[in-house]
Amino acid sequence: MSQLRSELPVVPEKMKHLPVDERGYPVPWFVAWLNEDGRELRSGLGKPDFRIMRARARAEAYTQRRCWVCGGHLEVEMAFTAGAMCAVNRTLAEPPSHRECAEFSAKACPFLTRPHAKRREAGMPSETAEQPGHALLRNPGVAAVWICRSYRPFEDGRGGVLFEMGDPVEVLWFREGRPATRAEVARSIETGLPSLEALLPEGEERQQAEAELKGLVDQAMELAPA
Ligand SMILES: [Zn+2]
Repeated sequence: MSQLRSELPVVPEKMKHLPVDERGYPVPWFVAWLNEDGRELRSGLGKPDFRIMRARARAEAYTQRRCWVCGGHLEVEMAFTAGAMCAVNRTLAEPPSHRECAEFSAKACPFLTRPHAKRREAGMPSETAEQPGHALLRNPGVAAVWICRSYRPFEDGRGGVLFEMGDPVEVLWFREGRPATRAEVARSIETGLPSLEALLPEGEERQQAEAELKGLVDQAMELAPA
């Protein structure tokens, strides 16, 4: 097993059983392990690819109430690690985690913590590249840890399932591993907005949809740091 990277935040007790990859990151429970042809193997065999979730991970997490990061059982309170736009529409493709596991991810995930890092799409096995809903592939810039007591799955209208986060008990915001400022949250929402606006319906429904989206942005900003 590899050594943990020295710059990582303290690994929560619940995550200490996770394997560590060759770069020194703990491998989350949901991550698919692949052979050289990109075929999924049993976890622990082959190589983990952090961009890809195990085929059964979402269903198992939801039906068995497991933490997305450590695989342990969830308690009453749960936490989503969400990009700014997911905090606006309260919708995301990944189920929740323990609070400490979500916080660790928000601080340590290279994609979430380095806004200038491009999301690597190269070498994505084609059958796993398609995610349900309209996953926004831009780098989120800030990461929200959305702590709540409920969530629900819903069909995305394209044959996939997404999750709607329940009303938050608390929302923590991070950027590059430290607490994000209000201005950074606002900027991340502002720059991500065109990607949500592009999904709005055309025609007479558009005006109402735009007003709803504006309401959601205002709600998200109420949850941003003061
Ligand atoms: Zn956990």
